[in-house]
Amino acid sequence: MKTETVVLNEQNIDTEVIERAGRILKDGGLVAFPTETVYGLGGDALNPASSERIYSAKGRPSDNPLIVHIYRIEDLETIAADIPEGAYKLAETYWPGPLTMIFHKKPIVPLETTGGLETVAVRMPSNRIAAALIKAEGGFIAAPSANLSGKPSPTSARYVIEDMDGRIDMIIDGGDSEVGLESTIVDFTGENPLILRPGYITAEMLGSVLGIAVGTDRAIISADSGLKPKAPGMKYRHYAPKGELTIVTGDPDAVRAKINELAAGDRSKGFSVGVIATKETAAGYKCDNLKIVGSKGKGEETAHSLFRVLREFDDDNTEKIYSEAFDETGVGAAIMNRLLKAAGHHIISV
Ligand code: AMP
Ligand code: MG
Repeated sequence: MKTETVVLNEQNIDTEVIERAGRILKDGGLVAFPTETVYGLGGDALNPASSERIYSAKGRPSDNPLIVHIYRIEDLETIAADIPEGAYKLAETYWPGPLTMIFHKKPIVPLETTGGLETVAVRMPSNRIAAALIKAEGGFIAAPSANLSGKPSPTSARYVIEDMDGRIDMIIDGGDSEVGLESTIVDFTGENPLILRPGYITAEMLGSVLGIAVGTDRAIISADSGLKPKAPGMKYRHYAPKGELTIVTGDPDAVRAKINELAAGDRSKGFSVGVIATKETAAGYKCDNLKIVGSKGKGEETAHSLFRVLREFDDDNTEKIYSEAFDETGVGAAIMNRLLKAAGHHIISV
């Protein structure tokens, strides 16, 4: 299949291109597009054949449900049932934005889209290209991250092209993703709202609107809890670079010394080595492939660059990668969730 790549400016969207992309989707085709979280691989959420095509383009296991993207709150009721008051409060506060909510699905949503589940995950993205495309398509786009299954999510069109060229109809290049991490997922089908995947919208931000403390699925907090995650996708190895990633946690001086020691050992064996650090800690590393993920304590900066950096290590064929652990407060919970998965939960405490 020939994949067309088009460049769009979020501030000045070419409506002719959006209309054409919308028609491709209506006809059952696939279009990758920018969102504020990561790039999405879109298909018509109400067409079972489109969802099957998404799974096959990504090489994604078909029990891993897709998030349905809408462009206005009033469309929520078309696809979801039993929507509690709290969900509307969250929608009013955080939509459009990096928040996904799960509800019981209406019959119009095919089981192919929900990975066989009777529930549906819904998000309203803030990226204007995404919103315009959803509107042009007719309102409901199923879109997982636009990477091959298992790879880090793409935060720029370059990595979508790398993974999807020849597999889908169109790729819309809208520049770098602002947030850089996937949405927070909150399940509203249980007794209390529950975070199934941490993201940019933190538990505190949810709790402040709902007026109750919001918990996180215990299965994703600990690696070896033996529990099955409620979001099927969280059980798969994910976000992984080709090289072996190790996280080192502890006192900053001890972390630096340990990483330098491990890196020197790898180098003496002939491995290419990379280190992930912050602006403040970078100078302490003896490494020719050092990648900086923003300032220490600025979670938004780390979130923005983490997936890009993991992809760059793939480009560089880096074989051994070491990262400092990050503070788990605020968006840090999401950063450490993704980093631990990328490392296969390989973490050293010093
Ligand atoms: P991605 O689209 O790549 O960001 O992945 C979507 C995530 O949402 C995966 O972890 C899915 O398992 C999860 N998800 C989507 N729909 C549901 C649902 N109905 N119930 C639970 N998790 C879901
Ligand atoms: Mg994904």
